[in-house]
Amino acid sequence: MKIADKCVVSMHYTLTDDDGQTIDTSRGNDPMPYLHGGNNIVPGLEKVLTDQEVGAAITVSVQPEEAYGPVIPEAIATIPKDAFGEIEDIQPGMQFQANGPDGQVQVITVKEIQEDGILVDGNHPLAGKVLNFDVEIMDIREATAEELEHGHPHMGDGGSCEH
Ligand code: ZN
Repeated sequence: MKIADKCVVSMHYTLTDDDGQTIDTSRGNDPMPYLHGGNNIVPGLEKVLTDQEVGAAITVSVQPEEAYGPVIPEAIATIPKDAFGEIEDIQPGMQFQANGPDGQVQVITVKEIQEDGILVDGNHPLAGKVLNFDVEIMDIREATAEELEHGHPHMGDGGSCEH
């Protein structure tokens, strides 16, 4: 079986940045499942996995344009402390979910506490970064109707989901 749309693929992966720092890895845990063609993983990785088979080992560098996009300077801004409502003890590095201009959920990261407000960054933490993936394909199966409807894989035999 080759990887194509509507397949659930389980893979081991290690993601490193251009400095060789590991950003994320599935090694030491179960392989990560995703729904191919379901927008579950970055486009640049999904593209190279198409037509691969179980056992394939793939190394690929994905440019920001095919990953989390470039850093948008306008997304870095100082906002009033009031905007955080009841949240107290805000520290640099904390992350919050907020609604973006188009109503989509975005994660904002606190960069700095300033006198007149809080400097936040609404860019994805991996925006502007080249992502180096080291991937091993462990399993490929057809997605169930429910998985296709939900747009993501379910655990085990495809039976359980909490949504
Ligand atoms: Zn589901």
